[in-house]
Formats: sequence, C-alpha cells, structure tokens
Amino acid sequence: MEKLMTERELKASFDEAVKEGHIFVMYQPKMNHSTGRLIGAEALMRWRHPEYGLQYPSDFIPMLESNDLIHRADLCVFEQVCRFQKSIMESDIRPVPISFNMSRIDMLHDGYIEEIEAIRSKYDIPVKLLHVEITETSAVGGMELVLGVLNKLHSIGYMVEMDDFGSGYSSLNVLKDLNVDVIKLDMRFLSGDIGGRGGTIISSIVQMTKWLNTPVIAEGVETIEQADYMKSIGCSYVQGYLYSKPLAGEDFIEKLRSFDHEPAAAAMHLISEMDAGRFWDPNSLETLIFNSYVGAAVIFRYHNGKCDILRINRKYVKEIGMNMTEKEILCSDPFAGFDEANLKKFTDTLERAAASYDEESCETWRTVCSKICGEDKICVRTDLRMIGKADDEYIYYATVRNITSEKKRFGEVEESERKFRMASEQANVYAWEYIFATKQMRPCFRCIRDLGVPPVVENYPAPLFDSGLFPRDYEEMYYDMLKKLEEGQEKAEAIIPLTVSRIPFHVRYTTEFDETGKPLKAYGSAAIVIEGEG
Ligand code: C2E
Ligand code: CA
Ligand code: CA
Repeated sequence: MEKLMTERELKASFDEAVKEGHIFVMYQPKMNHSTGRLIGAEALMRWRHPEYGLQYPSDFIPMLESNDLIHRADLCVFEQVCRFQKSIMESDIRPVPISFNMSRIDMLHDGYIEEIEAIRSKYDIPVKLLHVEITETSAVGGMELVLGVLNKLHSIGYMVEMDDFGSGYSSLNVLKDLNVDVIKLDMRFLSGDIGGRGGTIISSIVQMTKWLNTPVIAEGVETIEQADYMKSIGCSYVQGYLYSKPLAGEDFIEKLRSFDHEPAAAAMHLISEMDAGRFWDPNSLETLIFNSYVGAAVIFRYHNGKCDILRINRKYVKEIGMNMTEKEILCSDPFAGFDEANLKKFTDTLERAAASYDEESCETWRTVCSKICGEDKICVRTDLRMIGKADDEYIYYATVRNITSEKKRFGEVEESERKFRMASEQANVYAWEYIFATKQMRPCFRCIRDLGVPPVVENYPAPLFDSGLFPRDYEEMYYDMLKKLEEGQEKAEAIIPLTVSRIPFHVRYTTEFDETGKPLKAYGSAAIVIEGEG
C-alpha cells in the first residue's frame, strides 16, 4: 500500500533512494495529433519507497525543493534519461528528443548546467535529443536569473520548453521576454469549456504564439474533443492521457518501435530584422509603424496550401472596404474567395517570393463577403515578401491596394471591344462607340484596319468628314442624328454612302443610359447595304 512520507522520513531515505535507484523515470509520449506520429517524450520523476510504495512528484518534490535536495534528484533523473537515450541509440530504434524538468531551485544552483553537461558528455548524447522544461514561475523574483540560464542553455544548443504556460497571471509578459523554443499549454488550467472563454483564451494564445514563431504543445489532453479543437486552431502537438499515460522505460521503447516518429517543426526562422515579439506589443514602435506608415498591410502564414491571416493593420481593413471588422477579416479564410485561376496566380506568386527572397507582385480577383455589404468581387494588387520560414511553413508580409475601380473601367473597355469584334466578324459590320460627354469615338479593330480610323477619334465626327470617310452632303443630317441621341432618343438609323467611293452603308445607333436615365454613349454600327435591302 502507498503511504505518504513525512519530511523527516523523506530526508532520511533520500541518499539511499538515489543510490539504490528508488528514484526512477517514467516517459510520457508527445504526439502530433494531425499525423498520429510520435514527436518526443517527457521524463517524469517517480520514487518507489521500499516501505511506503510509489510516490508522486506532488507529494515529494516540494519537500526536496525546500530541503535543497531537488538538484540532486534532478541530476539523478537526467543521468537516467541519458542512459536511456544511449541504450536506444545503441539499438536499432530511432530515438526522439526527451525533455527533462528543471526546477526553479536548480537555477539558483551554481554550476548546475556544467553538471548536466558533464553527464551528457559521459554518455555522449547529442544535445538535440534532450530538451529542457522550465516553468514560467522561474521568472518570479526576477528575470535576470532565468534569462542567464536560458542563454546558457541556448548557447550549448538545448531546446527550451516553457512548461505550464497559462498557469501564471503574467504569462504573456513572461513570454515576450523569454525566448523559449516551445510552449507547453496546459489544458487543465482552462477547465473544460473549449467552446467558451477557455477556448477564446487558448485560441488567442495560439494565435499570439504564431506571432512569436513558437510551436505549442497542448499538455494534459484527455479527450479527443480537446485534441481536435487544438488542431483546429493550428496546434497539433499534444501530450496527455488521450494518447498515453507516463510509461515505464521498456513500455516507452515499445511505443517507439510501433509508432512512426517525426521531428517537431523547427522554430520559425525570421528572415528579416523585424522583431516579432515587439510587433505583437500594442505599444511598440513596430506596431506604430505597422499601423501608421506602411499603407494597407497584412501578415499571413502559408502552410500546406492553406493560408491564415496573422495580422492586419487598420489601413488594410479600410482598403479591402466592405465595411468589415478586423476580427471578421482575421477569422475568414483568405483563399476561399479565389476561383481556381486566381488562386493559382496568387500561390505562384508566394512560391516565387519564397524562391527569390525578394518582393513579388500579383493582381488577383476575389469574392469578398461581409455582413453589411453582402458579396462583391474585388481586384487586389499584392506586393509581398517572405519574412519567415520553417520546414513547410512560410510567413509573408504584404502590402495591398484595392484596384477594383481601375480594373472595372479597363474591363469595360475590353468588354465593349470584344463585343465590337464579335459583331464585326460575324456580320461584316463596322462598330464603334461614341461618348456624348467627351465627344470621343472608339472604333472596332476593323475600322482601324480597313478604314484607317485611329483608335480614338476626338471631337467626333468632324475628323471623319475632313478625311472624306463621311460625305460632306450628309454632315447636317449626321450631326442632327447624334444630337437627338444625346437628347435621349434610344435608336437611330440611316443609309449613308461612306468612303470616297460612296458605298451605301446601313448605319445604326443604340443609346446607352446611366442609372439616372441620362444618355451616356451610343453604340454605332455600319453594315454594307445588301442588294434588295432598304
Ligand atoms: P508537469 O511537468 O506539468 O508534468 C505533467 C504532469 O501531468 C505529470 O504529472 C503527468 O503525469 C501529468 N499528466 C500528463 N497527462 C495528463 C492528463 O492527460 N491528465 C492529467 N490529469 N494529468 C496528466 P506528475 O508526473 O505527477 O508530475 C507533476 C509535476 O512534478 C510535473 O508537472 C513537474 O512539475 C514535476 N516533476 C515531475 N518530474 C520532475 C523532475 O524530474 N524534476 C522536477 N524538478 N520536477 C518534476
Ligand atoms: Ca514538465
Ligand atoms: Ca506541465
């Protein structure tokens, strides 16, 4: 039967426990919930007392800490982990990184890192197979100590995981200053309700950690709902009873044998000088610059063909228009509005930028939808640059310009030209449009090719009477016809002998009106009078 030890009993039996191997290690797997693969494990200390039975850390670690024994216990665990990794390396199984817990008290112990390094070199374990877990409470009572330890561990090459993230009230501040490589987010601190406030807190933490480019492991994951939820917000690494309880060494080796493993994604490497941590701080200079000086800008992540927006500035919200809120934009799937061709154009640009490390641009149409404006199609010019990159994950910085109205004008011209072309090719007719307000005439390509009309005729129709294309004796009648159209007549037609050879053409006009009913332009056409007509 298990029984709690008193402090006196614990102190009395500690030396023997270390010597006799009563203090031992269990290994809890860390998994990628998206791939079902093993990515690592955490070493957890246990004490099997000959009289009192199995003891759990919560029952003895505080006593070890207050009696300055924890550092010896942690070194004992560390040595067992090294020995364990060594035995795996010598077998035919591929090892995964194993993390060990570092107590806040260990940090106070001068020479602790030198001691673990001596053990590591004794067993000759590559530093990448050992991760360190520190807790955010280590920062209590001063940042300097933790920062010093963190820098020292980093300079040796240890990956450092921030344990129990979310347990302290100052979590976000601590994270901003401590450059850890992985964040362990404990689901148990957010009791249950992933649909409610807990979920909002988690998803904003995960969103923010993307900003800091730090991968997250959810720990204490007990249900498939929790794991699926974490996956849905972009956090696929999980540890907890759902996959496995802490295992004895030999059982963990069985897991290693039967599961595929994969390396956890490397921390995002920021290419630019930009300091992501400060970027997230609403009061930093970077945020000020982002909001005030760069025009409409967006930062997004591209991963496995999917895109999520990490951050936009105020001008971006304005530029896209549609009266959307920042939150609506952040929550939308930016690729959803693209048709296939525009999506390809956009992703090709992303790939070009990833290859060139330079600015690349594209103009793409997309459908946007907002509560207020409903659905609309907009054209956006994007100038983008890759600013960060991990294995298959890219971060881009882009400035955007909404060029829909420019494009629409251009598109309309193209559209009428296309109509002209079709009409003239089909029926051997010449076509043009005449804009009342500007007295401009734009002919179809056949007018240009066959009749020598310039692409734009100003002060229409005078130059065509001057050139002899239109007969002088029809001048008065023709001006009168245009005047009636401009005054609102919907249609007009006449037989007019055109060109110096005075070939009879059937000339027809149709007026186009704007929304207010004002005549805008007239579409003209001229077809050779076929014998029998007229
Ligand atoms: P921790 O570092 O947060 O370790 C995770 C704890 O959560 C472990 O408890 C683990 O057994 C438990 N756990 C894992 N998955 C689940 C789950 O799905 N549901 C629930 N309810 N619990 C889960 P454990 O082994 O009792 O360790 C407790 C704490 O003791 C650890 O918390 C760590 O702070 C400390 N500790 C453990 N081993 C060591 C060590 O070697 N050195 C030091 N300094 N501290 C250690
Ligand atoms: Ca831990
Ligand atoms: Ca933890």
